[in-house]
Amino acid sequence: MELKVIQGVMVKPDQNRASRTTEEYIILSLSGFTALVLFPFVVLRFFTQDWLLGILDFIGVFCALAVFVLVYTTHNTRVAGKILAAICCCVLIATIELKGSEQLSWCYPALTALFFLLLPRQALVLSLVVLAAIGLMILDEVTVVGALRFYLSAIATVLFSFVFAGRMRAQQLQLVHQASNDPLTGAGNRRALEQKLLDLMSLHRRHTDTVTSLIMFDIDRFKCINDRFGHATGDDILVGLIQVINQRIRTTDQVYRLGGEEFVVIAEQTPLKDAVLLAETLRTSVENDPVLSEYNVTVSVGTAQYAEEETAFEWLGRADKAMYRAKNEGRNSCCVA
Ligand code: GH3
Ligand code: MG
Ligand code: MG
Repeated sequence: MELKVIQGVMVKPDQNRASRTTEEYIILSLSGFTALVLFPFVVLRFFTQDWLLGILDFIGVFCALAVFVLVYTTHNTRVAGKILAAICCCVLIATIELKGSEQLSWCYPALTALFFLLLPRQALVLSLVVLAAIGLMILDEVTVVGALRFYLSAIATVLFSFVFAGRMRAQQLQLVHQASNDPLTGAGNRRALEQKLLDLMSLHRRHTDTVTSLIMFDIDRFKCINDRFGHATGDDILVGLIQVINQRIRTTDQVYRLGGEEFVVIAEQTPLKDAVLLAETLRTSVENDPVLSEYNVTVSVGTAQYAEEETAFEWLGRADKAMYRAKNEGRNSCCVA
């Protein structure tokens, strides 16, 4: 794959989403597994002329396969997870309603599966609702001891799954954060910027009326600041600078660290004239910040609006050129591509 490098940033121009996420693999395997497990029951039910259950299981197989195809072709796991969770609950409840308490053991895999498909809290609430519904259905069928045994084991399974899923999710969020944020400043890192640019490229291809601007800035004479005040103070300045920038940009926009003392703000739904105003606001905010001004911190800024058909590399390149024009014109200024 062609990799283009700009100031150390790699942009893969036409990376398509060949690799699948963990969520996709979970839903693909669960839907495939559900279809495979249910299919022999469809055959068995029709063979024994148990038409109602046969049709029910057939609907289950059909929906599970539909979810498999949906995720396989669209990579959309959110909707698919919810559909699969609904199938699990409906098939479970219907099976117990039709076949009685002998089917209760299916609760364990079905309820555990919910924690793979939904957010932990959603899965917990749904599991408890399903258990309550099942309780009403089997009320006059099982003994008190039998019901107690079932409920204690089912609730223990649900709670273990909840705790485990919660831990997994917290670790997953932490890993995503570490993989996409710069540890010093908390700004998005180059990997996150690359991903953002790839997402924007496909958004612009699909909706040609989208307007996005990119603001690139670099601290002026940062080497001198480091030399004069020390590297540790230089680090604090980088942190303080990003705090100032974050206070000025919309919560939906993000600042990324391109490398060293060079950053990029992606301003979505922002035409060039608004981005130019924002760039100037960012420059003056840095210049006038009470803490940063103690160290005479200023930035040079280049702004470019995405032009149709250009690659992310060309877009970054135009902003980069504008920024270097600002440097050449004496620094602490903004230029437009
Ligand atoms: P210009 O105005 O042309 O951008 O000059 P400059 O001195 O800012 O540019 P130059 O590329 O010569 O130096 C960049 C400096 O930024 C050198 C490097 O030590 C410093 N730097 C890069 N990353 C960090 C960091 O994480 N912490 C600190 N303290 N300094 C850093
Ligand atoms: Mg610099
Ligand atoms: Mg630099």
